[in-house]
Amino acid sequence: MKKDVRKAVIAGNWKMNKTPAEATAFIEELKPLVADASCDVVICVPFVDLQNALDATKGSNIKVGAENCHWATNGAFTGEVAAPMLAEMGVEYVVIGHSERRAYFGETDETVQMRTRAAIDNGLKVILCVGEVLEQREQGITEEVVGLQTKVALGGVSKEELKNIIIAYEPVWAIGTGKTATPEQAEEVNHYIRTVIAKLYDDEAAEAITIQYGGSMNAKNAEELVGKVDVDGGLIGGASLKSADFATIVAAASK
Ligand code: PEP
Repeated sequence: MKKDVRKAVIAGNWKMNKTPAEATAFIEELKPLVADASCDVVICVPFVDLQNALDATKGSNIKVGAENCHWATNGAFTGEVAAPMLAEMGVEYVVIGHSERRAYFGETDETVQMRTRAAIDNGLKVILCVGEVLEQREQGITEEVVGLQTKVALGGVSKEELKNIIIAYEPVWAIGTGKTATPEQAEEVNHYIRTVIAKLYDDEAAEAITIQYGGSMNAKNAEELVGKVDVDGGLIGGASLKSADFATIVAAASK
């Protein structure tokens, strides 16, 4: 990461793990371990854990995010949660376009754009996930895929609004598989995304935006990954469920 222009953000994505009581207990354990972090620390948790997470993180340096939000303000969308609901609770971040939402719940680049718009309009900070599947990497079209996902998601987002967006480059073949992208592969795609931002906005916006890497980042490989110039932290799944591992990743990004 480039510390003079960007602050690293380490965000946990709990996916569908931990009950509200488990969330509280975990956060109490995590708080002292990350209290001295010089990077931003975020935990994105299931909707039902949000209130416990907000209560338990009060007065600490840990910020709370949701794992999705709907594009509509309200309405007949059974089972969904709207951005104003999250904002009113005091939730600060929301993950949008995670590959599991794309693979299992019909998320498309267009719905990612609509959800991003709703989040921004409601003052939420977005962690926008992009990434190629293995076949696309093997076909040599990673840049085309990631570039298109980024461009469509950011359609209608102004340069000012971009300040509330973090991009998480998450190669789908590396998520939950134990197969991490090499630091060089992560750097290559993160740098490419920065060039896309420069073309869409300008060099200033490209230098300022936080671009994370995600995909089997863990306590062992985090330091090398976040040591790359264009890797501004990480979105962490599995390793965010263990407080000691997550804290080690936070410490690596704080160096
Ligand atoms: C994720 O869920 O965004 C993720 C990167 O998962 P994992 O770290 O488990 O690969």
